[in-house]
Amino acid sequence: MTQKKNILTGDRPTGNLHLGHYVGSLENRVKLQNDYNQFVIIADIQALTDNADNPTKVRNNILEVALDYLAVGINPEVSTIFIQSLVPEIAELTMYYLNLVTVNRLKRNPTVKSEIDQKSFGESIPAGFLTYPVNQVADITAFKASLIPVGEDQLPMIEQTLEVVRKFNRIYQPVLIEPEALISQFPRLPGTDGKSKMSKSLGNAIALADSPDSIEEKVMGMFTDPNHIRVEDPGKVEGNPVFDYLDIFDPEKDKVKELKEDYRRGGLGDVKVKRRLNRVLQNFLKPIRERREEYAKDPGEVMNILKKGSEKARIEASKTVTEVRKAMQIDYF
Ligand code: ATP
Ligand code: MG
Repeated sequence: MTQKKNILTGDRPTGNLHLGHYVGSLENRVKLQNDYNQFVIIADIQALTDNADNPTKVRNNILEVALDYLAVGINPEVSTIFIQSLVPEIAELTMYYLNLVTVNRLKRNPTVKSEIDQKSFGESIPAGFLTYPVNQVADITAFKASLIPVGEDQLPMIEQTLEVVRKFNRIYQPVLIEPEALISQFPRLPGTDGKSKMSKSLGNAIALADSPDSIEEKVMGMFTDPNHIRVEDPGKVEGNPVFDYLDIFDPEKDKVKELKEDYRRGGLGDVKVKRRLNRVLQNFLKPIRERREEYAKDPGEVMNILKKGSEKARIEASKTVTEVRKAMQIDYF
């Protein structure tokens, strides 16, 4: 029997997980968890790199993210869910890897670049933020992960990981594994505002935990084709997130095709399409929300899952650190 390969995947505890997470990675994690050793990281240290002044936010979202995982079907009996800061070996590896990247290379990372613009740090970019891709290299390599289910925005991180891994293996000894990204069928879900990415930090997300009223309010307020003013006007389907969501979540594909034709031709109003999307999303999210509410009744038990997972993750990461130190000749005794 061949040994199962490892997966490392996870999220920053900066808010409730949303539909983008679902289609971008959660769905894959649930599918793959039985065939791989899956480690799911709640990256609190990484979340602090741009939330240093808001520890309460990060702290509170640990439980929220864990509830989202359990609600969508990540099974803690088979997946190891853990908190990043409880595995200090990751921080140790980060220090070692920082010597293998240049400041210029970090500044050129396209995801970091666009996030820096978005967050308007100006001249005050936290050093921890600029270097968070190296922290991710540590997350991935600590668990000898070969597969990383992520959204499209994370591809530059995998690139950066490959560079560090190759450099490490060349300079020291070949102990680190080169990972591969697993991009889902829908690698970048747009936001309700039509912006290219639904994101916790942009206020354009429909969360898995949202109440029926909140889902409806967000759907009815969604961005559509700004030139589709009167019902009889021909409308654009491309770049219209209402249709993007229908494409993904509406089980009746023929009906969606028909709606798109009607919309393009003119004569189909936004309100009607949005009402349909609302029904579709309510159906999709109801069972997830109900499971979430069940787990939320016993937060102590959920925290216990994270405690146990973190202990298990730490044992794995320690093994890697031992090999890394030996390869770097800093294994003195
Ligand atoms: P933040 O704004 O705090 O960075 P986020 O919404 O970008 O939050 P992350 O925790 O940074 O969420 O991302 C976790 C994982 O979910 C990553 O693999 C990322 O690629 C994926 N992901 C996030 N948003 C989307 C999206 N809109 N479509 C597809 N995948 C997504
Ligand atoms: Mg992000």
